[in-house]
Amino acid sequence: MTTWTPHYAMASKILPFPAKTCFFFIHGRCSLPQTSLRAREDGPQCRVLSIWERLQDEAMDKAEKNRLNTDLTLELVARTLEQAQDLALLCPGYRPGGKNSALDCIFLHGHLCIQSLPICAGICRHFQPRKH
Ligand code: SF4
Ligand code: SF4
Repeated sequence: MTTWTPHYAMASKILPFPAKTCFFFIHGRCSLPQTSLRAREDGPQCRVLSIWERLQDEAMDKAEKNRLNTDLTLELVARTLEQAQDLALLCPGYRPGGKNSALDCIFLHGHLCIQSLPICAGICRHFQPRKH
């Protein structure tokens, strides 16, 4: 004899299909919004990388205005970035991963901050299969 299960009871058992094979899926998060928000400091791009990019651009502009040669320009950029190396100060969310790199935060994925990405709630209309 089959037991009848009420519709509402079954609905509670329906789980979103995991989207691990989606091109945009990164550690349970969705990287899709990064295309439109990448340039913003409060977007999903890593805050530290955004600050470094801005400082570098400002130093390059300053060098251009002062007609510095290439060597002096590179020196100015290096000195400017040297002053912005306290990662914990630049980003309260920074968690060192122990890697020997300039920015070793455990939340960094490419140029994105995983913490800033929305959670993937399951396969959606933007799903794109990952290319292997
Ligand atoms: S938590 Fe890490 S990856 Fe995220 S913005 Fe801060 S330093 Fe960058
Ligand atoms: S399935 Fe949708 S929400 Fe999930 S990662 Fe892919 S595009 Fe983003």
